[in-house]
Amino acid sequence: MGNCPYCKQIISLNDLKTETKGKGFIAQEIMYMCPYCENILGFSNRQR
Ligand SMILES: [Zn+2]
Repeated sequence: MGNCPYCKQIISLNDLKTETKGKGFIAQEIMYMCPYCENILGFSNRQR
């Protein structure tokens, strides 16, 4: 995965916190958070 730009910890995919926003079947927004400092690292839109 890489390093957190905020706390410089090495983050693996298993450690990455994700939060899914939106309940619809059409589109969900996934929020990626650092497990160490809980800063938001990015968003991605998942289309179903
Ligand atoms: Zn961090």
